[in-house]
Amino acid sequence: MSSDPYEVLQVQRNASTEEIKKSYRRLAREYHPDANPDDPEAEEKFKEVAFAYEVLSDPEKRSRYDRFGDVGSASSMGDPFGGIGDIFESFFGSGFSQSRRRTGPIQGQDLETSLHLEFAEAVFGCEKEIGIKTALACTACEATGASEGSSRETCTSCNGSGQVQQVRQSLLGQMMTSAACNACGGMGWVIPDPCEECGGEGRNVVDDSFSVQVTAGVDDGTTLRLTGRGAVGPWGGPAGDLYVQIRVQDHQYFERSGYDLMRRLPVQMTQAILGVEMEIETLDGSETIVIPKGTESGQVMRIRGRGVPHLQGRGRGDLLIEVIVETPKDLTPAEEKFIRDFAGSRDDEVSPPDEGIIGKFRSAFS
Ligand SMILES: [Zn+2]
Ligand SMILES: [Zn+2]
Repeated sequence: MSSDPYEVLQVQRNASTEEIKKSYRRLAREYHPDANPDDPEAEEKFKEVAFAYEVLSDPEKRSRYDRFGDVGSASSMGDPFGGIGDIFESFFGSGFSQSRRRTGPIQGQDLETSLHLEFAEAVFGCEKEIGIKTALACTACEATGASEGSSRETCTSCNGSGQVQQVRQSLLGQMMTSAACNACGGMGWVIPDPCEECGGEGRNVVDDSFSVQVTAGVDDGTTLRLTGRGAVGPWGGPAGDLYVQIRVQDHQYFERSGYDLMRRLPVQMTQAILGVEMEIETLDGSETIVIPKGTESGQVMRIRGRGVPHLQGRGRGDLLIEVIVETPKDLTPAEEKFIRDFAGSRDDEVSPPDEGIIGKFRSAFS
């Protein structure tokens, strides 16, 4: 049986509507049941011609056939038991149904989980335990789904094809259509005595845990894909993937900017003016840094190679230290006098004693 409606109607692929109609009429007359009584082959041929015409006389169906006409595409068009697939199935018969059978192993679901890391764990990498609810192959039945000593059997409703034929009335008369077999769900086999452990699915839902190696340098929001770490499919089907979303806890001092680490470093006004050597915490331990004389608030010092390791290749980012100059607010009267003298020596205009902004308001309204 030909699976090409153009072939069936004996026309070229670029045939006009008129040519298709003409050819259809000629062939329909030739194979009409009235002209061929008790000839099942002619009747089959007549149906083929009718269905070919149904496809090619409808511009939409014809263009869909032209685009998706091969078996693979027609069966992968989404809706497996309706739409154009139905037309082809009824028209082309078993050739198409075969491609529809869900014979191959069924892959398990992809799973998703999140993994919480300390800041330093993400920077330097770590080994972490992941716990997930997943499906693993049933050990009791070795994923077959059949109880010990029994096995799956060919479905008697569909004789193993996974499809059942149905007769349907259409404008063109009776049409044979195929649908997935209800008795076996389209699998073509049934399990008469299911494994008690897994209920016949060949897999069990379990809490599983395993350790993963987290690469140094991963950042918050990164998703790791662990191939084959998802749920296994029923009856020994391959496992899906596990997607692990990385969540990194904030650090008290450090923030990430790509592969650089940043931290703010408060220094006293006097230290900023006169310079100082300071011991500071980095993720690698303490380091001595030199705040030079006359450092401005907001100035950034860079310690090379004390940032985050690059995910690919070697090297690390830098540690950037932003100096924040703190202004003393708790001056003793003696200190204040000292600062006032200092301001005076530099001709800096400052507020008079005991008169901040509030004092100025007071004198303005008194
Ligand atoms: Zn069946
Ligand atoms: Zn089992």
